[in-house]
Amino acid sequence: MKPLPPLREVIARHGLAASKALGQNFLLDEQLLDRIARIPGPLEGERVYEVGPGPGGLSRALLRAGAEVVAVERDRRCLPALAEVSEAADGRLRVIEGDALRVDEAAEAGLGAHVAANLPYNVGTALLVRWLGGESWPPWWASLTLMFQLEVAERIVARPGTRAYGRLSILAQWRAEPRLAMKVHRSAFVPPPKVMSAVVHIVPAAAPEGVRAATLERLTAAAFGQRRKMLRQSLKGLPGGIEALAAAGIDPERRAETLSVEEYVRVARALG
Ligand code: SAM
Repeated sequence: MKPLPPLREVIARHGLAASKALGQNFLLDEQLLDRIARIPGPLEGERVYEVGPGPGGLSRALLRAGAEVVAVERDRRCLPALAEVSEAADGRLRVIEGDALRVDEAAEAGLGAHVAANLPYNVGTALLVRWLGGESWPPWWASLTLMFQLEVAERIVARPGTRAYGRLSILAQWRAEPRLAMKVHRSAFVPPPKVMSAVVHIVPAAAPEGVRAATLERLTAAAFGQRRKMLRQSLKGLPGGIEALAAAGIDPERRAETLSVEEYVRVARALG
């Protein structure tokens, strides 16, 4: 890659004052960005779909690692800065201007792309649910490397019996393997957000047979909708729920947070 000016200079020159409405908290520390870019594994010659590149700190790190990057950015103020990055990388960065929630990412990035993003909380969670929730599996992506608020990251990797364990944990764990790859202190961002952050790395695993994602989702919504109640109470409103519990050999006096992911899969399979 050809040399590029420091990110601080780029931000000042292009007037990229962080917008609160767009959830902008930029990462400027190159070493930290390089560590994040290493999380998916070697990227030489790999395709990466990046969401929310902003001034391009993470994009630069991904390009330094040898990736081809397709990035979607909503804030058009960032486009000239990103065009400079693309030029320095001989076109290995392609930028799409738009809302990541409306992009057909499989078509843009192609099968087998790695996903990397440092996103505002609401957009990140909505995309995660979309990427993990489809019926077709394995998904189009090879791995997800995503920055979240630490509290959300802990929910994604949480084990049964903990307060963080819930719908997001089961969604992320029933046919994928998430791990908390790195905690990131709030002071690493400009401006610093109120809370700590963490990068989660997720790879797809084999999907259990005979279970639809939508059925599992309905089950966990009902179970965790009343997480303090016994399942025989919380599943009352779910047609066939109590019968499915019995068929899966689960004691109806248990509470939602005590069931393992595998037990939820068994109940969902019995729900049909
Ligand atoms: N990746 C950069 C970094 O790490 O410094 C910027 C991170 S900043 C937390 C989030 C970025 O996502 C911003 O550039 C923001 O404009 C962009 N963004 C917010 N909502 C978006 C959306 N719906 N689609 C695409 N980009 C979005």
